[in-house]
This record gives sequence, structure tokens and C-alpha cells, in this order.
Amino acid sequence: MRQIAIYGKGGIGKSTTTQNLTAGLGEMGKQVMIVGCDPKADSTRLVLGGLAQKSVLDTLREEGEEIELENIMKSGVFGIRCVESGGPEPGVGCAGRGIITSINMLESLGAYTEDLDYVFYDVLGDVVCGGFAMPIREGKAQEIYIVASGELMALYAANNISKGILKFANSGGCRLGGIICNSRKVDGERELLEAFADELGSQLIYFVPRDNLVQRAEINKKTVIEFAPDEPQAEAYRGLAKAISENKMFVVPKPMDQDRLEELMMKYGFLGL
Ligand code: ADP
Ligand code: SF4
Ligand code: MG
Repeated sequence: MRQIAIYGKGGIGKSTTTQNLTAGLGEMGKQVMIVGCDPKADSTRLVLGGLAQKSVLDTLREEGEEIELENIMKSGVFGIRCVESGGPEPGVGCAGRGIITSINMLESLGAYTEDLDYVFYDVLGDVVCGGFAMPIREGKAQEIYIVASGELMALYAANNISKGILKFANSGGCRLGGIICNSRKVDGERELLEAFADELGSQLIYFVPRDNLVQRAEINKKTVIEFAPDEPQAEAYRGLAKAISENKMFVVPKPMDQDRLEELMMKYGFLGL
């Protein structure tokens, strides 16, 4: 079983990308579980066809410790198992801790079955604290992909996340599997992301194009693979799924300082234009 965490700046496309790539894996016949680790609890909406999944933390609050796995795990397209960790009441409690409470609950309810090929953790983006490093800190996810684009803030966040990975690489054993570019159609984006990944000692594992079809599928509460299986965007997500399934490059990243990041932006990205 490969346990994979998807990180990246808020709004960069983590949930969309995770659901579409897991649909790609599901279509290949793989057994997948998604654990949404964002208090917004919107990590599984497309896979579940818009069904509102009750979060683990809400269920715990309302029903107490005596909960059944079927209360918190629903099966979506291609049999993908979906869980939303949820968050504490706004203003109360630690969201990061909530993630670990949820994962522990899943473990004790036997959600991590032998037949699972992949577990994906879709984690809230910006690393502002230790809370959101929980899935890698506690050694739950060993493999990490960062979703980024050619925009400075996305790369800034990706570099910060790499610092977090570096910190827990020894204790938690996590490794960076690569950078996923979710394109914002920034000039020189592919070259910039390749250079950025290279500087980290990692790789640009896949370049996902920007396409309005993603929004159309979203409005229809579906992954692109289900909504428009013959379109190039669906093929792109299949390509990403394949790249991850075949990936052999796992590294301890080498984060860069702010000056070096800006240098890269100047050389390859739009700052140079
Ligand atoms: P995150 O989970 O990182 O906060 P989301 O996955 O919710 O981000 O994505 C934010 C928005 O970006 C969504 O409304 C989604 O439709 C859009 N989006 C994501 N990827 C693409 C893409 N490749 N092309 C077009 N729109 C995209
Ligand atoms: Fe929120 Fe992080 Fe503080 Fe937890 S540690 S309460 S997740 S800011
Ligand atoms: Mg999200």
C-alpha cells in the first residue's frame, strides 16, 4: 500500500487534481482511498458525485466514539473509498490534531485494508504551523507530491513545504516524489517548474494543462475522467496517474532560499519578461 500526501498552496488545485488522478488509478483497476485533510471537507465531492460526506470529526462530535466505518467512509466512482477528516469547530481546537484523530479512528475501524493499493491524503495547503505536517510527521504518508504552478506564491509555498518535508524526512521517513504542475498558463511555466524541481533535487513529474472543462466537470459534480473521458484533459489525468504509479524517484528535498527562488523566477518565469 502506498500512502501519498498531496500538498500545495490553497486554491492551487490539490483536491481537483487528487480526485482526477485517483479516478485515473481507479480506472486502471487500482483500489484507492482518499482521506480529505482539509477542514473545508471538499476533497471527495467529485468522486462522490456531489454527495455531502459527513466528516469524521463531525460524526465523532455528534455520535461519540461508537461509530461504524460506514458512517465515515463512502464509496465513489471506480469504487474509490472517500473519507473527510473535517475540522474542529471554527475558533476552537487544532485542525492539525483533528487530522491525526481522524487517521487514528480510521486505523482502529480497520479502514486500511490489505487490498488497498493507494491511500491519498489531500492536505490543506499553506504550511503555517506543525499542524498540517501531521500526516508526514507521524509517518502516515511516506510519499509526497507538491502541486504548484509558475506563480511566485505557489512556488514560495512549494519551497516551504519542502522545508517541512526535509524536517521530517529522518523521523517520519517521508520523501518527495515530485512536483505536479497544475498550469496557470504563466509564460515559461514548464521550464520554470522543471528548473525549480531540479533545484530541489526532485523532478517535474507531470504538467497538467489548464482547461475550462475542469470547471464544467466540477459544476456537474464529476471528475473529468467520468464527465468527458475522451477529451485531452482526461488523458492528462490518466498520464499523471500513470506517472505516479511508475515513479521511482523519491528524494529528501533541498529547499532554496528566497533569493535563489526569485533568481529562478527571473531566469525562466514571467518576472524576466
Ligand atoms: P485546492 O484543493 O488546492 O484548494 P481546488 O482543487 O479546490 O484547490 O481547485 C481550485 C479551483 O481551481 C477549482 O474550482 C477548480 O475547478 C480549478 N482548477 C483546478 N485545476 C484546474 C485546471 N487544470 N484547469 C482549470 N481549472 C482548474
Ligand atoms: Fe491551527 Fe496549526 Fe495552531 Fe493547530 S498548530 S491550531 S492547525 S495553527
Ligand atoms: Mg482542497
